[in-house]
Amino acid sequence: MANPASSPLRPGAVIGILGGGQLGRMTAIAAAHLGYRSHVFCPDADAPATHVTSRATIAPYEDEAALAAFAAAVDVVTIEFENIPLTAAQFLAARVPFHPDPAILSICQNRLREKEFCGKIGVPTTRYTSVTDAASLAAAVADMGSPCVLKTAEMGYDGKGQVAIAADTDLGAAWAGMAQAATGAGAILERYVDFRLEVSVIVARGSDGARQTFVPVENQHKHHILDQTIVPARAPAKALDKAEGIARHMAAEIGLVGLLAIEMFVTGDGEVLVNELAPRPHNSGHWTLDACVTSQFEQLVRAIAGLPLGSTEPLADAVMKNLVGDDVASASTHLNDPRAKLHLYGKTEARPGRKMGHVTRINPKY
Ligand code: AMP
Repeated sequence: MANPASSPLRPGAVIGILGGGQLGRMTAIAAAHLGYRSHVFCPDADAPATHVTSRATIAPYEDEAALAAFAAAVDVVTIEFENIPLTAAQFLAARVPFHPDPAILSICQNRLREKEFCGKIGVPTTRYTSVTDAASLAAAVADMGSPCVLKTAEMGYDGKGQVAIAADTDLGAAWAGMAQAATGAGAILERYVDFRLEVSVIVARGSDGARQTFVPVENQHKHHILDQTIVPARAPAKALDKAEGIARHMAAEIGLVGLLAIEMFVTGDGEVLVNELAPRPHNSGHWTLDACVTSQFEQLVRAIAGLPLGSTEPLADAVMKNLVGDDVASASTHLNDPRAKLHLYGKTEARPGRKMGHVTRINPKY
């Protein structure tokens, strides 16, 4: 169910957010700026988004009575992470406007479906094939050649469930290593891309079909977790135009209402290959909070509330650095930097690999 563009949500309406992490927290803050209330649904009573919303339902995503009550209490629902059970999304979508559509979630929850979708709409990806066991892995590696990368088809993120495969890799051990994180949905073998840099583009689309892209940004990872986002990406203009064009095309073809983040590889000869999709706000868009006319979170709220999309004009060049695990111990040093904006997510326990906050250093153009 889409909100007709002619009837935007009234001030005071309630935005339901599935998921309680930092992306939900920043979405709820943006919603409040536009006069909306937020109601978070998540299983964790102390999740970061619950700290900033007046209403929260703490329940498992499988709890249909809690989902039904949530649906009755909100005007629209969005998500802050895509790996919520599809059945929960479908249950809610049958009762209340729900963006992005569960069919989009279904594509983005599975790497094979993502790449098949790209192929169907003419968007380039690296070469890939489906693998189901150690024997099919051996056959696929023999056919594709190495190096390549084995990934779980579902639920893998921040490098979990991924194994790099070289000519001398023990494929039995590689399968066993990947299978520990697998969910039974099988795996994908991808040809390794010798990329020059990784970029992402976040595109918003309203229910009236209007689209806006944020500028392509450059992402650098450490231990498979995003470390820094550099704005704008340092790549040839032609490749960046291609990346933006892909994002606009994908948003329309997938029937998006809301946000879609598209991670891409740019190769040395200017090819742009899609790696991964996320139909929600994205870590590589956090810079927009401090260095763009409209933040990605506000843009999401505008899109799902039937408001016009905002300007995505950057106000400054910027570098966003994630504060991961113990990085947060020295977070206060950034408060002395006049060009830095610190964001902490209110998490008390700094476990290794846990995103605790981020800091954006801005470099205004004027
Ligand atoms: P992903 O979970 O697919 O985003 O992968 C995490 C990171 O692993 C990416 O950001 C890349 O740095 C790297 N990676 C993933 N797939 C490939 C690939 N096919 N070729 C080269 N590097 C890859």
